[in-house]
Amino acid sequence: MSKRALISVTNKDGIAQFAKELSELGYEIISTGNTYKALKEAKVDTILIEEVTKFPEILDGRVKTLNPYIHGGILFKRDNEKHIDTVKELDIKSIDIVVVNLYNFKEVVACNKSHEEIIENIDIGGPSMIRSAAKNYKDVLVVVDPSDYSDLITKLKENKITMEDRLNLASKAFSVTAHYENLISSYFVNLTDCEYPKYLNITFEKEIDLRYGENPHQSACLYKNPLENTIQMEKISGKELSFNNINDIYAAIDILREFKDEIVSVAIKHTNPCAVAVGKNGLDAFDKCLKADEVSIFGGIVGINSTVDENLANALNSIFLEVVLAYDYTEKALEILTKKKNLRILKISNLDKSSKYDLKYVDSKLLIQQRNNLLYEDMEVVTDKLPTESQISDMKFGLKVVKHMKSNAVAIVKDGQTLALGPGQTSRIWALVNAISNNKDKDLKDAVLVSDAFFPFDDCVKLAQAHGISAIVQPGGSINDKDSINACNQLGISMVFSKIRHFKH
Ligand code: 5GP
Repeated sequence: MSKRALISVTNKDGIAQFAKELSELGYEIISTGNTYKALKEAKVDTILIEEVTKFPEILDGRVKTLNPYIHGGILFKRDNEKHIDTVKELDIKSIDIVVVNLYNFKEVVACNKSHEEIIENIDIGGPSMIRSAAKNYKDVLVVVDPSDYSDLITKLKENKITMEDRLNLASKAFSVTAHYENLISSYFVNLTDCEYPKYLNITFEKEIDLRYGENPHQSACLYKNPLENTIQMEKISGKELSFNNINDIYAAIDILREFKDEIVSVAIKHTNPCAVAVGKNGLDAFDKCLKADEVSIFGGIVGINSTVDENLANALNSIFLEVVLAYDYTEKALEILTKKKNLRILKISNLDKSSKYDLKYVDSKLLIQQRNNLLYEDMEVVTDKLPTESQISDMKFGLKVVKHMKSNAVAIVKDGQTLALGPGQTSRIWALVNAISNNKDKDLKDAVLVSDAFFPFDDCVKLAQAHGISAIVQPGGSINDKDSINACNQLGISMVFSKIRHFKH
């Protein structure tokens, strides 16, 4: 009895050649509708699936191969007398190779096709055949990846298929069906209002290998959620992006996203902002950003939510930067920036779209939370003294910055510019002490102090006032709030409660 191969593929790359060679090796080829047509056109001998199933393809292709003549032919154990008797009795013929790749569900979702069309692109028979063949890997070869065709033919010709090869094919097969199910599940979950996955059905695909991780001795790569269509980034020039670059780029993006109606420039170092400023235009914003911290920006990442023109490009080129990201670049600007061959120049679009979830992998566990989508709930003045209009506007500006700094974090801001930032400290007062002492030469008179979380004591109020700061915004919520409010009243400065905490750990 001749051996048989069943071929049912959506991606028909290389399939005619593969089928031809299988046929030359003595395999009888069974194929489904369009695969049959493609093979016939390529003059490969093949039998239509319906001849085997003795049943027409029905329900617009929903049922083609879901049939005992197919699954029996794949699944019977070749060393089991009872199985052999059963298939003989029922005239089920053996299927020895299963070549299947699935309906391209992901592409249909990415192309924003209608829900009905997406549902029709959930492959049912394909995964079933793949799973049947992979389960019976000892007797059946399962081929799900066109890049395996040629190697398999070579091995079949030389009669050198090992158990290791069979296990590799089966494990790839199950990983394909598992990934496919996850994609479908993610699509369904995205249709619900659920703000974090109820079941762990977020699926990732490898995008690129990275040279190394945070340090040169750590290997690394980048994975992507294929169903989330968020910010788009195009690298126009420069060295390949590193692990740290990518981490910092997204830290910059988080802050850029906060500024919908203003032009802002942000400089990032080690995922914390070292300077942020809004301006009349990109150049003005960047100038203010540079003046905010001329030391830390060195070797940093700069993001600007506007187009980079010639003047801005010259200003950017005046310092050493790893990455520049902006909406666009004029031709002249690109000419200037690309003189620095290593500088990575990125164009960003779709900035408004962010992923639904925030994930953190802690050893073997994954922490999942809704993204931090709030800025403040209220701006309640809790002191006798009122902040000025411009101080309120600086408070809102500062909250957009402090929200994206590692806790404990404080920001001292004035006129839409950060004057001093204190990220990532283990105590709140240290955050403020650091921010002030690192910026000794700066005039903090009438600046605003912004804190990511409440003040447990009144020490920050006193230190801030001693340096000329005259308004404070913090979420409030400490049992000692009264102490801080009293200190403000005694020292004649204002305090506002924003009512939303912004821990970022
Ligand atoms: P063709 O292009 O040959 O008409 O169809 C090939 C595709 O159909 C493959 O991607 C295969 O996974 C899928 N397929 C095979 N059998 C069935 C079935 O019974 N139901 C569904 N929905 N898809 C099937």
